[in-house]
Amino acid sequence: MKAVVFKEHGGPEGLIYTDMPEPKIGPDEVLVRVKACALNHLDIWTRQGMPGIQIPLPHILGCDISGEVEKIGGNVKNIPTKSRVVVSPGISCGHCKWCESGWDSLCSEYKIIGFQADGGYAEFVKVPARNIIPVSNRYSWEEWAASPLVFLTAWHMLVTRAELKKGETVLIHAAGSGVGSAAIQIAKSMGANVITTVGSEEKEERAKKLGADHVINYKKMDFSKQARELTRGEGVDVVLEHIGTETFSKSLASLAKKGRLVTCGVTSGGLVQIDLRFLFVRQHAIMGCYMGGLNELKKAIELLEQGRAKPVVDRTFPLVEARSAHEWMLDRKNFGKIVLKP
Ligand code: ZN
Repeated sequence: MKAVVFKEHGGPEGLIYTDMPEPKIGPDEVLVRVKACALNHLDIWTRQGMPGIQIPLPHILGCDISGEVEKIGGNVKNIPTKSRVVVSPGISCGHCKWCESGWDSLCSEYKIIGFQADGGYAEFVKVPARNIIPVSNRYSWEEWAASPLVFLTAWHMLVTRAELKKGETVLIHAAGSGVGSAAIQIAKSMGANVITTVGSEEKEERAKKLGADHVINYKKMDFSKQARELTRGEGVDVVLEHIGTETFSKSLASLAKKGRLVTCGVTSGGLVQIDLRFLFVRQHAIMGCYMGGLNELKKAIELLEQGRAKPVVDRTFPLVEARSAHEWMLDRKNFGKIVLKP
């Protein structure tokens, strides 16, 4: 099969379009013919290499996969071949205390497809049968591929962790990012008021179209001051953080009394300063979020199937141009997800 691999960690130029053996499935696995695969920041971290994490090379990236069931293993039932599916990106044991309580990503065997296992930058990918989620033809292959990781993450952050309530105000960083564009829609479906940030004028209009009530251009204004003004000086109930060093202190300063900050990523770096005096006096909570559980993803997919939220695709590149797709993401030019098509 055709696939994009990297043979050593490094820049986008290391992504090579080549022939790889088709994956052989075990009795509990499914072979999926990849129709589309979306990019995530995780792809960039994995390609560059992370301290202390070893993965077998050459490696195939890609954790957001839509496609058709090609083959099923001997023990697999109720998954017809040729059916239309998305792949849940997290693999876990399914029976430990974390898996049983819906906290799959805390399972000691937790792996992300395309990170610790070969992924979807290929014509075929093998996945455990329990990771298969059937979907309708309401959306295109590209749109379905754009959904799993970001809708799962945003759902886990806002619904499970922050317990966002109707009428509360949430500040969501970077409307144009995958997780930002999913979070805006999930928050609106929950009846919250949404303040979001963008880095360009073109993105302001698109953020409003997604449902954001207020859009702050962080290049022109101080987002924290602005968030405070928009809430009559009180601050926001929840901040959804995924930027890190550049924004974290100001994100904390944007919180109302008893506010919650949920964080799932650090695109600008992981070292931040926290003044604990404000944290305890104002009784803030900071919560870490990493992916989410299979059941949360199924709920998020239901929201999409009902049309109460929509996948946001920025643009599609042919698989052979994976390198350009990575460069496009690094330039922060995208609004929504960047998708590869084999
Ligand atoms: Zn487990």
